[in-house]
Amino acid sequence: MKKLALHWKILIGMAGGALFGLVAAKFGMNKFVVDWIAPFGTIFVNSLKLIAVPLIIASLIKGVSDLEDISKLSKMGGKTLSFYLLSTVLAVSLGLLLVNIVKPGNLIKEETRIELLEAYSGDAQSKIEQAGAAKDQGPLQALVDLVPSNIFAATADNKNMLQVIFFVIFFGIGLILIPEEKRRPVKNFFDSLNEVILKLIDLIMLAAPIGVFALLAKLIVESPSGDIFLALLGYGATVIAGLAILIFGVYPLVVKLFTGKGYGFFFKGIAPAQLLAFSTSSSAATLPVTMERVEEHLGVDEEVASFVLPIGATINMDGTSLYQAVAAVFIAQAFNIDLSLYAQLGIIITATLASIGSAAVPSAGLVMLVIVLGQAGIPEAGLALIFAIDRPLDMCRTVVNVTGDATVAMIVAKSENKLGDPAVKEWDDNYSK
Ligand code: ASP
Repeated sequence: MKKLALHWKILIGMAGGALFGLVAAKFGMNKFVVDWIAPFGTIFVNSLKLIAVPLIIASLIKGVSDLEDISKLSKMGGKTLSFYLLSTVLAVSLGLLLVNIVKPGNLIKEETRIELLEAYSGDAQSKIEQAGAAKDQGPLQALVDLVPSNIFAATADNKNMLQVIFFVIFFGIGLILIPEEKRRPVKNFFDSLNEVILKLIDLIMLAAPIGVFALLAKLIVESPSGDIFLALLGYGATVIAGLAILIFGVYPLVVKLFTGKGYGFFFKGIAPAQLLAFSTSSSAATLPVTMERVEEHLGVDEEVASFVLPIGATINMDGTSLYQAVAAVFIAQAFNIDLSLYAQLGIIITATLASIGSAAVPSAGLVMLVIVLGQAGIPEAGLALIFAIDRPLDMCRTVVNVTGDATVAMIVAKSENKLGDPAVKEWDDNYSK
């Protein structure tokens, strides 16, 4: 008998977890969920994060060294970065368009605004402080931050992915430039390391349905009251509408136009990564699975996927940038601040940069939103207005972030003549058995 495919198992885990959370909350068993169920979700996410840095190192070194010459590297690098930038600017513009049409901020009543500001001002303050350090720095700080002074320190913290990527590409360039016989042992080592890590992903994913069950159950028992949700419905719906347009409209259409691959093929291929992105709210934690799905199920050659995707997980966040644009204008509307066209153009630039700078972890987009608000002259305390429903929106925007990366990987692969028919390897079959 054919066993259930992985995405169905994950979906069942998610639904089961949500249901369990609802029942537990009803019977006052919140503490039980937090003490006895939630830790399994944490273990699952930790095990994915555990292999994120080794995966980026092994796959990027493999990716760069497979390119074999510098001109190939700069061509693919240029293409990748251009597509990422283009998709992010498009996402911010779409967000701005929607929020200006729907105007969800005007739906917030004065008393609700005061209530929300009071309830979440503490949480908002801590995010403002986290972002404060970044804001006080000079204009070239982002460039300075790109170059680590110690690679071991950089790899010790999952938040320094860009530094790790910088080092690894640098290392890969060195590897390309040395003679073939000297290069071979190092390359073979990283190729094998890559294989081992792919195997580990395979093993971790066996526990995915249990992991997402625990994550969802915890989320439900910890979510705030329904009233607040209701007040923010207009805002949440605007963000979700924008994200849905990207996921169900723009990406599959672009994939069809550029690669000729259809809707069903695309979603069947990427669905498990999307579900995982939704459950973990972290593109970094999802990266191992995104890579596996894009290579084995969407037919992107390993050479392209192992270069494009680790970079994308770190810098390409279309969902986050769209959300930041909507949230900034929503807060301005709620405070009755009229944003000029000039201010809105500024949001396109800052939201693009802020999404690039956001770490691929839960709530990172919310922290970086402070910078977008500051630049546009919108009160940062307004963060408190959107706190209550940030988590569900974070889950949805992470799905978009991951889908955007997969889309660009397919386009780059097509343009490089490296998009083939998916070759589902034997290890992947383990999932669906
Ligand atoms: N959670 C998002 C991600 O990991 C980032 C964010 O928007 O907060 O992709």
